[in-house]
Amino acid sequence: MLIPNPIINQVLDHPLLEEKDVELSIKRLDLIHDLVPGNKFFKLKYNLEKATKENKNTLLTFGGAFSNHIHAVANAAHSMGLKAIGVIRGEKTFPLNPTLSDAKAKGMRLHYISRSQYREKTEEYFIQELHQLFGDFYLIPEGGTNQEAIQGTQEILQKEDEVYSHIALSIGTGGTFLGIFQACQIQQKALGFSSLKGNFIQKEIEELSEKYSIQTPKHYQIFTEYHFGGYANYDQSLIEFIWWFYENFGIVLDPVYTGKMFFGLWDLIKKGYFPKGSKVLAIHTGGIQGNRGFTFQTGIKLPSL
Ligand SMILES: *Cc1c(COP(=O)(O)O)cnc(C)c1O
Repeated sequence: MLIPNPIINQVLDHPLLEEKDVELSIKRLDLIHDLVPGNKFFKLKYNLEKATKENKNTLLTFGGAFSNHIHAVANAAHSMGLKAIGVIRGEKTFPLNPTLSDAKAKGMRLHYISRSQYREKTEEYFIQELHQLFGDFYLIPEGGTNQEAIQGTQEILQKEDEVYSHIALSIGTGGTFLGIFQACQIQQKALGFSSLKGNFIQKEIEELSEKYSIQTPKHYQIFTEYHFGGYANYDQSLIEFIWWFYENFGIVLDPVYTGKMFFGLWDLIKKGYFPKGSKVLAIHTGGIQGNRGFTFQTGIKLPSL
């Protein structure tokens, strides 16, 4: 099993927070594990346990070429003495980007499939084909969202976190949001910031809640206007914000998830969204490994570790 570091909630100091009478803390999941940081630690936790219980010696999962999930699965498998297969969307390109090069160094076998094949990845016939190629494996879905992941992400919020009025986090597939939402207290409000373009995420969250029988009588709000053009898109203001955040607080954000979430959160604070006396807990879901890949692809420098 992977042993987590203690979870820290760090209070942020800034004149704007004083002016608005808002307390802002950041839950540093980016520090929870050296090799498997962020929300992926919690999403994988019970999947790894289940794979072990089922005596599987290979994990297979899917992802894009810069995926935090692929990176986390490669590291987790390596740490636990399991084999890993990463089914990667798109063609193989040389040199390997930092994410895939790390995954390969950790022994992950990389299997590239076309974008059209990738869309078939949840079809039974396609999984059967993968079994013919690779034999027995424990399958973790793309982005890692399944029952076990939602069970794990509920553990992100702890007893001490009941004091916060708002819990803010980034949304990709929504698995982490659902776990956190499930763990929220009745008086707390969960704020999700979607990294993907479009309003479908609201419906997706409702469907996932139903699928995983999550009771959602509590308050939540999903913001769909801070995606910067869509998943993996960005603009100069986002890059500047990430640098500004790093210079002010010494905390590294990524341009895909946490940068957009904090940009949105800071914008809401400026606009007076939060009632005076609000205590906001923002979840740093990790993703820093991707900063090297971003620079690799765009040439734009970002803070990194
Ligand atoms: C994967 C990831 C997310 C999205 O998590 P979901 O459970 O898919 O919504 C958010 N932040 C970071 C840094 C991630 O790596």
